[in-house]
Formats: sequence, C-alpha cells, structure tokens
Amino acid sequence: MSGNGRSLLVRKIQSGIVLDHIPAGRGPIVLRLLGLLKEEGSVVRDGTVVLLMNAPSRKLGRKDVVKIENRFLSKDELQRLALVAPTTTVNVIRDWKVVEKFKLTPPKVVRGVLTCPNPRCISRISREPITPTFELVQEHPLTYRCVYCDELLEEGEIMRQLLSRLG
Ligand code: ZN
Repeated sequence: MSGNGRSLLVRKIQSGIVLDHIPAGRGPIVLRLLGLLKEEGSVVRDGTVVLLMNAPSRKLGRKDVVKIENRFLSKDELQRLALVAPTTTVNVIRDWKVVEKFKLTPPKVVRGVLTCPNPRCISRISREPITPTFELVQEHPLTYRCVYCDELLEEGEIMRQLLSRLG
C-alpha cells in the first residue's frame, strides 16, 4: 500500500465509526442505508463522512471504507448492514481509540426487515399480521429462505428491498 493510501485509511477521528472491508462498490449503498446519503448524491449531515472506494485490500482484493464522525450504529442498522455488506468490520472509536471492533455476519434469522417475494405467501395474504421471517441458507452468495413458503430471497433482491424502503 502506498504511503498516501495508508495515511488516508488511518487518519484518526475522535469519536465515531470506521467501517472497513466493505465489498468494493458498496460504500455508497452503506451510506444510503444509514440515511447519510440521498439517492441523488447529497450528504445528509453536518459531521465529516469519509468514503474511500476501491482501496487495496489483502483479504478482498479491493474494498470500500467508510468513516463517520460522531455517529454510532443501532442494532437494527447493524442487521441491515450485515445484509448488504456482510464482510464489513466495524470499528467503534471513542477518545481517539478503537474501543470495540467486530466483524458483521449475516444473521441466522431475519424477522420483519424483508418481505417474501412470493405474492401467495401466507406472510403476505394472511388477515392476521404475520411477521415475515427468513432463515439463512448460505452466505456466498447471500441467500435466505422464507420459513412459511420456502421461497428463496437472494442478495440482489435483499438489497433492492432495503434500498427501496429508504424513501
Ligand atoms: Zn414466503
């Protein structure tokens, strides 16, 4: 890695998060998912947001990195992120130090976040509200199965659903 690349990656923030090892090209999707970037490209915040795209990565070949000052993630946001950027490492920074570091993994079960693509699925036609529930089938490519009708939900559809709900 070149000296310049390195300094871009490690320049410190006092407080916030660094999302490392995002699959190359998904950085803007991550920012949209967190409500920090609008579809037409405007940034929705006062604090600094760093988006580094296509950085060299030993693990992934190429990766995106997102750094957000003075922002932390809720459980719900982490679950959504794990669905669109499952290789991501989350670094939580307070007082200039990494106080927490963990890798996102796609949840074994997803409840309520996604909709079954099968229009005849009981989770969609029942009069009683049924929470759509999906079980992880495989991570690469990311695939879930509806527990009610066995319909498969694949990575592209998952991303489409999550992004279409941002409004
Ligand atoms: Zn279903």
